[in-house]
Amino acid sequence: MRVRALDLIRQYKSIKDEIDSAVNRVISSGRYILGEEVENFEREFAHYNGSEYAVGVGSGTDALLVALMALGIGEGDEVITPAYSFTASADVILRVGAKPVFCDVCDDFNIDPNYIEMAVSDRTKAIIVVHLFGLPCDMDKVMNIAQEHNLFVIEDCAQAVGAEYKGKKVGTIGDIGCFSFFPTKNLGCYGDGGMIITDSEKLYEKMRLIRVHGQREKYIPEMLGIKSRLDAIQAGILRAKLKHIDGWNRRRREIADIYSNSLRDIVEVPVEYEDRVAVYHQFTIKSKSRDTLVKHLKERGVDTAIYYPVALNRTPLFQGAKTIPLNCSRADDLTKLSLSIPIYPELTDEEVIYVIDILKEFWD
Ligand SMILES: *Cc1c(COP(=O)(O)O)cnc(C)c1O
Repeated sequence: MRVRALDLIRQYKSIKDEIDSAVNRVISSGRYILGEEVENFEREFAHYNGSEYAVGVGSGTDALLVALMALGIGEGDEVITPAYSFTASADVILRVGAKPVFCDVCDDFNIDPNYIEMAVSDRTKAIIVVHLFGLPCDMDKVMNIAQEHNLFVIEDCAQAVGAEYKGKKVGTIGDIGCFSFFPTKNLGCYGDGGMIITDSEKLYEKMRLIRVHGQREKYIPEMLGIKSRLDAIQAGILRAKLKHIDGWNRRRREIADIYSNSLRDIVEVPVEYEDRVAVYHQFTIKSKSRDTLVKHLKERGVDTAIYYPVALNRTPLFQGAKTIPLNCSRADDLTKLSLSIPIYPELTDEEVIYVIDILKEFWD
């Protein structure tokens, strides 16, 4: 048997008619940049999350960039971000001229709030938390520190559409929530796409300007912006897909449950918290024999992925960046132990059981 890490064609086939009709609707409408389709999706996405406003942008990376710009973060400012994440959670900080301060993570892969407190300086303006692999961070602790030190909180929800912390959707707890619709994400489109949500009307207005050259009125820029919009065809596709996201996330949780129950005795499985709903963008196990395990799985047709092979502070781009504590050792450990095994809603029970059997075989 061959079990791929992801198979996007299966999902497309399961909702082909809905997708095709959405694409046709947008193309036939003659409106391809912003317009009704994007506005409708923004409204529906805001409603789904329980936020006041949503702004569609070109990618998850741009969502983070526009958020930092709207908060006025730049030269001389510091932004706290986890040492263990995708590049975009930190490179946007450099892009606006500010300095990332890398914080070590907990065993659950997310930023350690105890270190955030230590990372705060006179220059700190914001914290970017990442709900990595679809697991919400400890937001109460993060928000307490932010309030105490008057910091903005940006939630990087690129891997966590639909995840909940104490009954609230991620992205609605901090000042701004940033989402990615990159094809491989829980809610993916068929190209690049992103979204920003907020309850602040002021930030909303500002972010809408920033995504169109800082122009409210055509040809009259009021401020420095960029050009980054959610494509209208992608918005149509996402409107169709949003109707299915809860079902897909439920299936991810169901698969995670089967994996956890079957593997808990042989390998370290992801933590589940009673006050949070994780959406398992990845199912990431930890093993000291990670590299031989990858080989074993590959030989038996099971694809895996390593998220992430290097801590951000160890990459050339971030050389010399401040780290708290000095050598973010948990992030380093995770780069050596972590292994993500196949999880996506269309995975069959048969495939899930095959993956489990192959893993068990390794320890036998
Ligand atoms: C994918 C991802 C991003 C960036 O999103 P893009 O749409 O690819 O630009 C940011 N942060 C995290 C944690 C991600 O996984």
